[in-house]
Amino acid sequence: MKCEYCGKQIDHIPFQCEYCGRYYCDDHRLHENHYCSYALKKLEEERSATVCRKIKAFFRRLF
Ligand SMILES: [Zn+2]
Ligand SMILES: [Zn+2]
Repeated sequence: MKCEYCGKQIDHIPFQCEYCGRYYCDDHRLHENHYCSYALKKLEEERSATVCRKIKAFFRRLF
């Protein structure tokens, strides 16, 4: 098994990214370390969903 990011051979059980489902070495297992576009998209969606909820709550208080 090789790291999908750096190609390093992984001797132990590789780490799987919870976002893109690919396998990475110790150094690249975190989504920010392999610049995971899936994670970025997901986090971006979550962030905008939170902002939407906040805006809706804000307007509900006004009217
Ligand atoms: Zn790696
Ligand atoms: Zn990933």
